[in-house]
Amino acid sequence: MSALSANLQAVRERIARACESVGRCATDVALLAVSKTFPAESVRDAHAAGQRAFGENYVQEGCEKVSALADLGLEWHFIGPLQSNKTRLLAQHFAWVHSIERIKIAERLSEQRPPEHAALQVCIQVNVSGEASKSGVAVEEVEALALAVAKLPRLRLRGLMAIPEPTQDHAKLAARFRLLRELRDGLNLRHGLQLDTLSMGMSDDLEIAIEEGATIVRVGTAIFGARTKAQPPGPAPLHQ
Ligand SMILES: *Cc1c(COP(=O)(O)O)cnc(C)c1O
Repeated sequence: MSALSANLQAVRERIARACESVGRCATDVALLAVSKTFPAESVRDAHAAGQRAFGENYVQEGCEKVSALADLGLEWHFIGPLQSNKTRLLAQHFAWVHSIERIKIAERLSEQRPPEHAALQVCIQVNVSGEASKSGVAVEEVEALALAVAKLPRLRLRGLMAIPEPTQDHAKLAARFRLLRELRDGLNLRHGLQLDTLSMGMSDDLEIAIEEGATIVRVGTAIFGARTKAQPPGPAPLHQ
C-alpha cells in the first residue's frame, strides 16, 4: 500500500470513528481531498485509492489539474478566495464553489455557468471568528446573502462553509462550528431553504467538526502530506 493510500485509509477511519462517537452515519460525511500545491499525479494516486472529490484553492492551478485529469471523471470543488476576473474559469471547470462571500461574484458565476453543465453547487463562506479572521461574510450578513444567492438560476445553494481561526482551544473551535450549524438550521427554518451542507473541518480538527454536524470535511495535509512548495504567487494574468 502506498503512503498516500495508507493516509487516505487513516483519514477515512478517523471520520468513521468521529461519526460513531456521536451516532452519525459515516456515509453522511463526505471527504474532500484538498490537493492544492500537489501535482496531478498525486491526485491520480488518490483516485486509484478510491477518492473521487478534490478541492483546489487557486484558479489557474486548479483548472490545469481539472483539464489534465478529465479522463478520471472527478468531482472538483473550489475552496479558495474568489476574484471577479476569474469567475468564468471556475464556472466552466468546477462542480462546487465553497467560498461565496459576495453577491456580485455569485451573479457572475450564475451568468457564466455553461448551459451544458448542471447548476453550480455553492456554499456561502461565513466568518465565524469575528475579528480574528478576514475571510467570509459576517454572521449578520449571511441571511441576506443566502436569500439572494438562492434566487440565482444557475447556482444551487447547498449550505455554509467556514475556516475558524486556528486555536488549540477545543471548546472554542466546537463553538465556531456549532455557530455555523445554527446559522444553517436557522435559514432552513425561517426561510424554507433546504441547505444540507456544512463544509467544515480540516486535517487538525475534523473530529470536532463532525461532532458539530459537518457534512463535508476538507482534508489536505493528512492525505497528501505537508505542503512544502511555496504557495503560487498572487494574481497572475489569465486568458479567459
Ligand atoms: C488548505 C485548505 C484545507 C486543508 O487544510 P489541511 O490543514 O491541510 O487539511 C481546507 N480548507 C481550505 C479552505 C484550505 O485552504
